[in-house]
Amino acid sequence: MMANLLNSLGTAITQLPSHLITQLKTHCFLCGNNCAITEMVCGHCLTELPCWPVDDLLDSPQIANNIEHQFIDELYSFSDYQPPLSHWLKSVKYSRQTKLTRLLAQLIESHLANLPVATNRTEQSTVFPVLTVVPIHVKKWSLRGFNQCHEIIKRCNAKNQYNYVPDLMIQLRDETKQAGLSGFRRRARRRNFQVNTTYRLDDQHVILFDDVLTTGSTVNKIANQLKQAGAKHVTVLTIAVAVKR
Ligand SMILES: [Zn+2]
Repeated sequence: MMANLLNSLGTAITQLPSHLITQLKTHCFLCGNNCAITEMVCGHCLTELPCWPVDDLLDSPQIANNIEHQFIDELYSFSDYQPPLSHWLKSVKYSRQTKLTRLLAQLIESHLANLPVATNRTEQSTVFPVLTVVPIHVKKWSLRGFNQCHEIIKRCNAKNQYNYVPDLMIQLRDETKQAGLSGFRRRARRRNFQVNTTYRLDDQHVILFDDVLTTGSTVNKIANQLKQAGAKHVTVLTIAVAVKR
C-alpha cells in the first residue's frame, strides 16, 4: 500500500514542469544528498538504520521477561533505543520539531502499514481496527501545546488503514501515596488513564502507539483500560524499545 502510494506520488511528481520538480527536492537529514519531498532520509541512509522486522517482540524472552505486558497481546517496534534514534526521540518530545517528527513518521510508516491486523484484513471486513496514541496530561499539553505521539502518527499515510482516534484515551492524575518509589517509578505510577466515553470499543482490535517503551507500565495500564472498556485485542507499536536486559 505504502509502495503504491509512493509510486503514484512519484508519477504525479514527474509530470510536473521541471523547475517545480527541482523545488520539490529536499535534502537527506543524515547525508545531505537529494531525496523526495515526502522523505527526510534518503533510501540509502534508511537501509543503513538498524530496523527490526515486523515481528511480535513478546515472543522474545529478553524483552517479554523485562516489561509489564499482561494486558498486551502483541508488541512491535522499529528498533532498539540507541543513537541517532534516541536523540531524535528526545528532541521531538520537548520541542515541536516538524522535520524530525516527519522523519520519525517516515521510520514507523512501514511498520504501521504492515501490522498483521492490517495486512490480514479481508475485502469483506468493513470495521477498521482502531488506532490511538498514548495521551499526555492536559496540563502538560497546555504547556507544550502538542503530543509528540499524535504529531508522528498524523504524518503517517498508513493511519488511513485504521480508524484513527487520537483522543481515545485521557490521562488523569492519581494522587495516592508514592513513598518508597524511585522518581522514575513514582512518575510512572502517578499516571492514570481512562477511556474517553464518547467511543465504544466492543470487540474491537486497538493499536496503541507510543514513542518509546521502557518498563511497559504505561502501555500495559492503558491496555487494561481498553480491555475493561470492551476491546478484544490490544497491539502496541513503538518507535523504540529501551528495555533493561
Ligand atoms: Zn542520506
